[in-house]
Amino acid sequence: MIPDVKSFTLEELQAQLAAWGQPSFRAAQVAEWLYLHRAANWDAMSNLPKALRERLRENFSLTALELVTVQGAVDTTQKFLWRLADHALVESVLIPANPALYGEASDRHTLCVSTQVGCAYGCKFCASGLDGWKRNLTAGEIVDQVLAVERWHASAKAKLTTPSAGVEAPAATLGPASDTRFVNNLVIMGMGEPLANYEALLKALKILNAPWGGAIGARRITVSTSGLAPQIRRLADEPWQFRLAISLHGATDATREKIMPVNRKYPLKELMAACEYYQAKKGRMITFEYILIAGVNAGLDQVKPLAELAHRLNAKVNLIPYNRVEELTWERPSEAEQEAFLGALEQEGVIATLRREKGHEIDAACGQLRLKKERELASGPA
Ligand code: SF4
Repeated sequence: MIPDVKSFTLEELQAQLAAWGQPSFRAAQVAEWLYLHRAANWDAMSNLPKALRERLRENFSLTALELVTVQGAVDTTQKFLWRLADHALVESVLIPANPALYGEASDRHTLCVSTQVGCAYGCKFCASGLDGWKRNLTAGEIVDQVLAVERWHASAKAKLTTPSAGVEAPAATLGPASDTRFVNNLVIMGMGEPLANYEALLKALKILNAPWGGAIGARRITVSTSGLAPQIRRLADEPWQFRLAISLHGATDATREKIMPVNRKYPLKELMAACEYYQAKKGRMITFEYILIAGVNAGLDQVKPLAELAHRLNAKVNLIPYNRVEELTWERPSEAEQEAFLGALEQEGVIATLRREKGHEIDAACGQLRLKKERELASGPA
């Protein structure tokens, strides 16, 4: 298999091009085409000699994710379903004007990216793991989700300025013309357990963070995990200042084990110790994600233990009302119950947010769009 050029760092490209006898600036030119101009083919790289473009073509693949569908309103969350080169499907989610849920207060466009096709961790409320794990994404496929959304945005913007094209473009998501980076905040929280694809994830983040690559600041990148304690410690030992989000969803082992099998391997005691290690190395950058599920973890009995964990780590808590998954029976609690949970948590002195949405579509749950498409494809043409 020809390796994907977007899985290579600048240093690796430099080494390869130097071995071909190319001047040292050529690798930087390639990186500029890939990450600044978001080139989707070699022919676009017009300032590279033709012979070099041919050699690159023979030795590296340069593919672009194929957009299967984009769903959602322009002023709210938009969900992208991508087809990879082997026809596997993954999702990314664009969250515009995020009120500092992750990263800094000036966040404009947060992209949630996937790291695996399917997931082996089998959280009981999640659509992504329903058909199990298929494969890890390559670093290039992780990076390409950012570039593909930016290409989509640039094309929508171009259509907006040429109304005769007749396609409605997402005006609300357009940034100032001076913006070269449309996606300026990343959460690694889509399909898959990011820390179970550690090497490719780190490589992708290195590329997305580098000034020659995505140029997205490390503090604007949040890595989420269902609780892989050893990998949290490993990430803590890396030089990057990524933020960490824990998909907690239960404040006691008994509650967490009901919905997250990973808790049997890494119970809360071990998970919290790993988080403390991360925090000691990186400072206060931990968030707890907490999906409120009726009759499971949304009772007020969870508030005190959750507050204790949050205080222990100075963690912020993001409460997310459960989005229904067609094949599962879980339900979201009523709005009154959600507000009561938030209020009780705040009473305990915890900094918490509650995602308040106007209605929730059936495909809003992570992995639901892909699952639906895969079921459609499996049942053949309609
Ligand atoms: S919540 Fe995350 S870790 Fe759990 S099954 Fe879904 S994708 Fe996997």
